[in-house]
Amino acid sequence: MKNVKYIFLTGGVVSSLGKGIAASSIGLLLKSRGLRVTLQKFDPYINVDPGTMSPYQHGEVYVTEDGAETDLDLGHYERFLDMNMSRANNTTTGQVYYEVILRERRGDYLGATVQVVPHITDEIKRRLTELGNTNKYDVVITEIGGTVGDIESLPFLEAMRQHMLKVGRENSLSIHLTYVPFIEAAGEIKTKPTQHSVKTLLEIGIQPDILVIRSHKGISQDIKEKIALFCNVRNDCVVSAKDVPTIYQVPLELSNEKLDDIIIDKLKIRAKKPDLAKWKKLVNKINNPKSEVTVGVCGKYNMVPDAYKSILEAFVHSGAENDVKVNIKWISAQDLESGKDSGKYLKGIDGLLVPYGFGERGTEGKIHAIKYVRENKIPFFGICFGMQMAVVEFARNVLKLKDANSTEVRKTKNNVIDLMEEQKGITEKGGTMRLGSYACNIKKGSKTYNTYKTSHITERHRHRYEFNNRFRMEFEDAGMVFSGINPDKDLVEIIEIPSHPWFVACQFHPELKSRATKAHPLFREFIKACKKYKKN
Ligand code: GLN
Repeated sequence: MKNVKYIFLTGGVVSSLGKGIAASSIGLLLKSRGLRVTLQKFDPYINVDPGTMSPYQHGEVYVTEDGAETDLDLGHYERFLDMNMSRANNTTTGQVYYEVILRERRGDYLGATVQVVPHITDEIKRRLTELGNTNKYDVVITEIGGTVGDIESLPFLEAMRQHMLKVGRENSLSIHLTYVPFIEAAGEIKTKPTQHSVKTLLEIGIQPDILVIRSHKGISQDIKEKIALFCNVRNDCVVSAKDVPTIYQVPLELSNEKLDDIIIDKLKIRAKKPDLAKWKKLVNKINNPKSEVTVGVCGKYNMVPDAYKSILEAFVHSGAENDVKVNIKWISAQDLESGKDSGKYLKGIDGLLVPYGFGERGTEGKIHAIKYVRENKIPFFGICFGMQMAVVEFARNVLKLKDANSTEVRKTKNNVIDLMEEQKGITEKGGTMRLGSYACNIKKGSKTYNTYKTSHITERHRHRYEFNNRFRMEFEDAGMVFSGINPDKDLVEIIEIPSHPWFVACQFHPELKSRATKAHPLFREFIKACKKYKKN
């Protein structure tokens, strides 16, 4: 068996430097050189997973094929590398402690005092090497969440140190991502925070091999040399990562800086020349759109765009495939609550997307927005809660069931959206929704069929409520088509209105399967419909 190479990515100075994008970019560069790569994220928080966190706290929860609720960086990994992640690709402090405490209760530690070192760090190392030990990968990239210096991430860094010591310098690499600020008053960029961050790493016993330096405009050779000298790394191992117009350009920037060559050289890997042709084409399309469309996104977490990360990225992919830039108009669902002037709030949009959501707040506004675009034949795309609200809207305004609602919002005589049977006994919150990949059969001749061009698909889910089949006939008689059905439980997965130019909504989350160079078909066709709407 060949030695698996481990690359660790840590972050310093400030958060939000785009560690996930950097990790994904490194992954893509190595993959483009013929290596079998996977990525994993270590999150220092104590939640077992982000599933129980509010979108305001954490942004989107990214659901994998196997139904794990994970960090949104896994979405970047999937989109950049065009491969599926799994439960094994995301570890949190909560999971590590949970496991260790379960073992302690079972008596597995045979009378020992259970401690952070070695028991917690050993469990981290077990997870660290789990992917590497599958024999499926040449390189495992591990992104350590948080910023160096945080108390929370210390056990992860200690595990990293121990692992690097064990496998040796030729099999492991430490990359540190930092930030060089420009101080306006001095007219200079400053390297001191980077020096301090590296010092903190050194105190923990980790010498970074490569520094990736984020900055607004890039850094000169002088600055690189200065950083190299004070941080104890080779001159050519200080790599600049300046701000770029799209995250998809980052791999190309890092490749220009020869980051992949340095990694391959340091890890003594044999790899072919990179093949980035498809990727360059994508970036070129993103940076040079032929026209633009505006999509209204009517949700309630609008002030936290990270809450809709995968949706926003899916618009980038589907925009590129349609040669358009997709502008987002954020529409706050609560503004439309009264049902008056819906048109005023929806002015200028070429399509409306109603995304996922939970709870009552904003639901009436979403329903009014959907009514407006249904009646005015503006393209509509509903996702999960967005589909559920489209069903409620249709029930109220077409079927004239005035009290129609989802049970999640209000219990009425006409709960056209109701709790799933399998959910009825569940009280625990963590990991208990209908999660992950499920099958769906597509009705021939429908818009959906023309979109997917196949009758069997699988898509990812995260919900507790579903279309209430008791109402199916009534809806069909009034012109709604159930174009996607889960064959095992007969659940409605996709609805559409054939008499409308584009009114399609799904119970699953298509955005989770949109890839940079392969836009999700539903997004692609929705944007196509928006383009057409704008033209007419
Ligand atoms: N709250 C709804 C449900 O649980 C929709 C969930 C979602 O939009 N992801 O079914």
